[in-house]
Amino acid sequence: MAKIWVEAYGCSASFADSEMITGLVVNGGHTLADDPSDADLNVIVTCSVKDATADKMIYRIKRLKNKPLVVAGCLPKAETATVDKFSPKASLLGPNSLGKTLEIIESTLRGHKKIELEDSDISKVGLPKVRLNPAVGIVEIASGCMSECTFCQTKISKGEIRSFRVGDIVRQVRQEIDDGCSEIWLTSTDNGCYGLDIGTDLPSLIDNVSEIEHDFMIRVGMMNPMYMPRIRKDLLESFENPKLFKFLHIPVQSGSNQVLKDMKRGHTADVFRKSSDIFRKKFERFTVSTDIIVGFPTETEEDFGQTLDMIQETRPDIINLSRYSARLGTKAAFMDQINVLDIMKRSKTVFEIASKISYERNQEWVGWKGEVLFDEISGDTIKGRNYAYKPVIVQEKVKLGHRKKVEITRATKHGLYGHIIS
Ligand code: SF4
Repeated sequence: MAKIWVEAYGCSASFADSEMITGLVVNGGHTLADDPSDADLNVIVTCSVKDATADKMIYRIKRLKNKPLVVAGCLPKAETATVDKFSPKASLLGPNSLGKTLEIIESTLRGHKKIELEDSDISKVGLPKVRLNPAVGIVEIASGCMSECTFCQTKISKGEIRSFRVGDIVRQVRQEIDDGCSEIWLTSTDNGCYGLDIGTDLPSLIDNVSEIEHDFMIRVGMMNPMYMPRIRKDLLESFENPKLFKFLHIPVQSGSNQVLKDMKRGHTADVFRKSSDIFRKKFERFTVSTDIIVGFPTETEEDFGQTLDMIQETRPDIINLSRYSARLGTKAAFMDQINVLDIMKRSKTVFEIASKISYERNQEWVGWKGEVLFDEISGDTIKGRNYAYKPVIVQEKVKLGHRKKVEITRATKHGLYGHIIS
């Protein structure tokens, strides 16, 4: 039996994969190392969504390859040659091959490189797991998506949509709750197209999960806005359930319809405007999070202006900002690229506007009194979330998974601060 070190990067789905890899390792009789230097074998669950991220993965791979190494996640699937170049002896485990985890670890421990990149997992529901946060159950509901966005390398790694069955997911959520979780994240590559390949959809899944009789909260993960017109009416009803955090992450990417067309996003900027507007009208202080890419190859100054206008109009609470970078194997990588200095200038502009909006939106919460679920230990403080999934920090000591009534006294662009009132 060996000591195994596992580190993970990327989206919630990637962290969910790392929890399952660790669960399979422990189930297989191995133990977990506290540090790579203490390990017999290292596992890195990679993300390759952006150039900067891929560079960081390569840096980590170089540091971890002094021991037997398994490179998992999106990078080995999207850029096999890149991983082989920097760590030719490393074994490779794809994001949809988790069932092969033990086989690949034991082969690598014996000094035999093994490659498992085929999509062999029928489902990821019901696998053993070691949670990164005991209060939060990250439940993958599907893998892959139904889009062909021209900038996206994740599509190469995760492939076509494969939704897991509603019944299996409900069973998994019950397991998470039985194991002590008070918060459930329903996550996948694109929640918007969940179930469209198996004759169901996201609102139906949410309704089934919400029916579970227990005191827990649900966070619905990222969804491409292109599916909103199709599911919005039902989704609004599903969100009426008090278990649902009044929060949605809807990556719009650009305010220019021409750029969205060149990105093959399948939606217009108005779909995002309308969706954030409708949810905010229905639910008081609903939190809208979005992603913006600046510097996409075909983005002109005028297109960029349309993105700024859309941001000013919709005032998203959170903007995850990316500078476009050409990812290997994507269609956009073959387009004429924009000067990097222009991309940096545009990203600085969006960053300043986004910071100002986040700060002003959080200021609106000063004086608010209400319930907070404390769900995350960060350093020596414990962070909570209110009904709108706003991060709340208090000075008082609170137990993980507990709920307390809090009064908000201060806000920054990152979150809310307050004290417990009952
Ligand atoms: S929806 Fe688009 S950006 Fe998202 S994973 Fe699929 S192809 Fe990539």
